[in-house]
Amino acid sequence: MTTTEDLSREIILDHYQNPRNHGRLTDPTVANRGHNPLCGDEVELSLRISGDQLDEIAFSGRGCSISQASASMMTETVKGRTLSDVRDAVQRFTQSMANRSAAPPELDAELDALQGVKRYPARVKCALLPWTTLRESLDVYEHREGADHDTTLADDCADAP
Ligand code: ZN
Repeated sequence: MTTTEDLSREIILDHYQNPRNHGRLTDPTVANRGHNPLCGDEVELSLRISGDQLDEIAFSGRGCSISQASASMMTETVKGRTLSDVRDAVQRFTQSMANRSAAPPELDAELDALQGVKRYPARVKCALLPWTTLRESLDVYEHREGADHDTTLADDCADAP
């Protein structure tokens, strides 16, 4: 008999042992690193973005199976999507991990495997690390784009609090 818990463990282990989109892009638009001091997890993301689309994403890193499996699943979830879709996915996943209710039905079946982690609050940070790092990467990208494309903005905002 296979329980849901066994299945979740199998999915997580599979992503941990055979990570998808693993490595580094040679010419990334943004590269960013996240670190979880509680458990020593590290995730390094490289993204290639054209316009408002995330064309390629790769991750490398080390740490516990939850953090690395979550990174692997994340890359599969967001690759090829528009930046606003990516942000939606990050927000949905973050919210699903933050509350104890069941995952929203639109959540990817594999990501659902990570919901069991919620029973171990310390591990939630492991699962969230790649997603937080991805959100920061988008912030870096969008901030830089804004600065490049609208150089007068800085002057206009000089007196802003
Ligand atoms: Zn961890």
